[in-house]
Amino acid sequence: MKILVINSGSSSIKFQLLSMVDEAVLASGLVERIGEEEGLIKCTFMPDTVDEQVVKNGEVIADHNSGMRLAVDLLTDPDQGVIADRNDISAIGHRVVHGGEDFHQPTIITDEVMAAIEKNVPLAPLHNPANIDGIRVAQELFEGVPQVAVFDTAFHQTIPAHAYHYAIPYELYEKERIRRYGFHGTSHKFVASECAQLMGKPLENLNVITIHLGNGCSMTAVKNGQSIDTTLGLTPLEGLVMGTRSGDVDPAIHAFLARNCGMTIGEIDTLLNKESGMKGLCGLNDMRDIHDAIAAGDERAKLALEVQTYRNKKYIGAYMAALGRVDAIVFTAGIGENDEIVRAKTVAGLEPFGIVMDMEANDQRIKKPTLLSVADSKIQIWGIPTNEELAIARESQALQQG
Ligand code: AMP
Repeated sequence: MKILVINSGSSSIKFQLLSMVDEAVLASGLVERIGEEEGLIKCTFMPDTVDEQVVKNGEVIADHNSGMRLAVDLLTDPDQGVIADRNDISAIGHRVVHGGEDFHQPTIITDEVMAAIEKNVPLAPLHNPANIDGIRVAQELFEGVPQVAVFDTAFHQTIPAHAYHYAIPYELYEKERIRRYGFHGTSHKFVASECAQLMGKPLENLNVITIHLGNGCSMTAVKNGQSIDTTLGLTPLEGLVMGTRSGDVDPAIHAFLARNCGMTIGEIDTLLNKESGMKGLCGLNDMRDIHDAIAAGDERAKLALEVQTYRNKKYIGAYMAALGRVDAIVFTAGIGENDEIVRAKTVAGLEPFGIVMDMEANDQRIKKPTLLSVADSKIQIWGIPTNEELAIARESQALQQG
């Protein structure tokens, strides 16, 4: 039983093939620079055991259709032997960014589901069309194989009205569906359930703050296994300080920039999404470069790290208040798993609240779930690698089996 997981973005397609007998990854790859002059495809077969990559460089990959075809050609290459027959694939799981209020769970894709994903395009104009392209090509290439949509927003559909409403005229919620949706749901749900297992508690009894720090960053308050609040909002811009995204700003910044700097709405959108965050503060958006710059005495890089980790800390406080009882805090994703300095600065000073980091345990890159707090810390701190592909594969398998 094999599941193919597809994450189709605006100019790239990530794919992973898993054997669900033992959840082993059989192949993992990326089609990049779709629509650009020189496309690029990378694929690693048995990535846990083999470092070698098959790379195809230079061919123009005109669109998602040709990108997916090239990926499937690689996967069905008899020399690699990972898909001997397309019927070996029992389901294809698609990451879909925005399910709006329509989807609370992963779902088998039907014509009605496609129509609902289309309906939500205004809420995710860059992501949902690319996801739709990926689904259409997969339906063509794997006719008859069940296709499953796993939504980034679905886990957060349990957030109560008092936490998802913005205090703006109610009609804007009714007419335009403006509200907090939240993202990274698959990742938050995955690490929350891993954490429950690690702590030997049923997920239904676990209160945890999950902190996803990668290119995009978000924090979720999980109460009794369900999301009750999250930092990303209507779009993936609100909340924590990210690589190039501002996170929270005074909403009046938009009007200020328009009036005083003559900026258009499009320019302000680009500024806040692509030129802000760590990059805006210090010119760098990769944490590794930021630490190098700090070591070389760069004051702006130091400031950026302070702004980012202070924001993280502030939201932990907010979510402790929202949850009442907190059993654990979990760090995950590129920065959360690899950056011991960000983790340590995020929880520094929270000892009076029962959050006490074990500095020795924290001093490593997290490759497997690791307890990062001292034995008598009232609230445990965990580093848990996220695995959205595995989560999507599990959901797809469960749905396919009915
Ligand atoms: P993700 O979106 O989860 O793939 O995370 C990507 C981000 O993780 C990069 O932009 C880096 O800022 C960060 N990252 C990756 N590796 C490291 C590392 N070894 N140390 C610090 N940050 C890292």
